[in-house]
Amino acid sequence: MSVDIRSGAESRTSADTAVKPNPCRFCGQPLRLTFVDLGMSPLCESFLRADQLNEMEAFYPLHTYVCEHCYLVQLMEYVRPGEIFTEYAYFSSYSETWLEHARRYTEEMIARFGITKQSFVVELASNDGYLLKNFVARGVPVLGIEPAANVAEIARQKGVTTRVEFFGRELANRLVTEGVRPDLLLGNNVLAQVPDLNDFVAGMRVLLKPQGVITIEFPHLLRLMNENQFDTIYHEHFSYFSFVTAEAIFGAHGLVLFDVEELPTHGGSLRIYGRHREDSSKPITERAIALRALEVEAGLTHIETYSRFADQVKQTKWKLLDFLIRLKREGRSIVGYGAPGKGNTLLNYCGIRTDFLEFTVDKNPYKHGRFTPGTHIPIFEPERIMQRKPDYVFILPWNFKDEIIRQMASIRSWGGRFIVPIPEVQVID
Ligand SMILES: [Zn+2]
Repeated sequence: MSVDIRSGAESRTSADTAVKPNPCRFCGQPLRLTFVDLGMSPLCESFLRADQLNEMEAFYPLHTYVCEHCYLVQLMEYVRPGEIFTEYAYFSSYSETWLEHARRYTEEMIARFGITKQSFVVELASNDGYLLKNFVARGVPVLGIEPAANVAEIARQKGVTTRVEFFGRELANRLVTEGVRPDLLLGNNVLAQVPDLNDFVAGMRVLLKPQGVITIEFPHLLRLMNENQFDTIYHEHFSYFSFVTAEAIFGAHGLVLFDVEELPTHGGSLRIYGRHREDSSKPITERAIALRALEVEAGLTHIETYSRFADQVKQTKWKLLDFLIRLKREGRSIVGYGAPGKGNTLLNYCGIRTDFLEFTVDKNPYKHGRFTPGTHIPIFEPERIMQRKPDYVFILPWNFKDEIIRQMASIRSWGGRFIVPIPEVQVID
């Protein structure tokens, strides 16, 4: 059965047969089966200035594979991380929902694991200090590790000690030599962005205190598949995890996932809780056992389940374009809201340019006056929507749709409506 599927994938993508398959980022087995191929796309955070619009742009393949041995869904490392992360335009602090999530997380960890002023908390990819500032406010010593120098500088201004480095075994060993051993080691939305996954997870094992806890949050592959979230695939995200595969990866490095929570963030994420294998003080919870069973039930340990996703993505694109074309033929005006990374995958894959969206807006001033990569849609401040009074506002960061609909409620005064593209195009009055 699996042989039939492999040969099907090869006939779809000539690149598979022309070149030797790349090895799986985790287990090293050759990658042969396409998960979904979204074509060529520019780096989703490479927003353009007006003077760059007539220049050539770099496009890279957005072609994901699934490993038939460990079920890790992954992109090749088409772009070196140094090119992506040294000046990152994503500042966590621009989303109120995300800030609230970080506040609640801090309270929960302090209560559950007894984090005190004597503890030490390390965050990997600590961004602009949006989360660690909550621990600092409670007097807990922290260290942030953040490869993007511009966002790390903002964190320091908030009093969050931050080092500008990439995390892995080498840095973990250096930190241990300096006496840094965290009681709580966390990383939110970083695991997907790590090119050398084994080195990163091995580094966590080196760094974590013997009785310490790791928490990692990442978008849940099951939700991505069930809810057509193909736009969460972009070059910065190398890996897409189920709980079963995450357990295998951490297990290979002597770490046990003893608990897991399903979260609503980013369209449906998991927060996994890890500990050293030798630490028997934290038994495996019912929740962890139940989620593993749910994934097995959903077919995530069968390769056939993954081979169905590509068709689902095409259907989603066709339906969305059908809908937008109908609105434009009726003479409706549409503008975007937001310019997130996922928006750029969606816009490029679907071919949505200024012929559909006159402009988009974003709260992040870094993006004002710039243009979306590849599709060249101008980005303005949110107030622009109030001046233009469009018939429709197309919400690109659909994971924040409730927050955005609340903030932009006044578009209803002129009969404006919202469009949410994922999991399926939907109009909200
Ligand atoms: Zn593998």
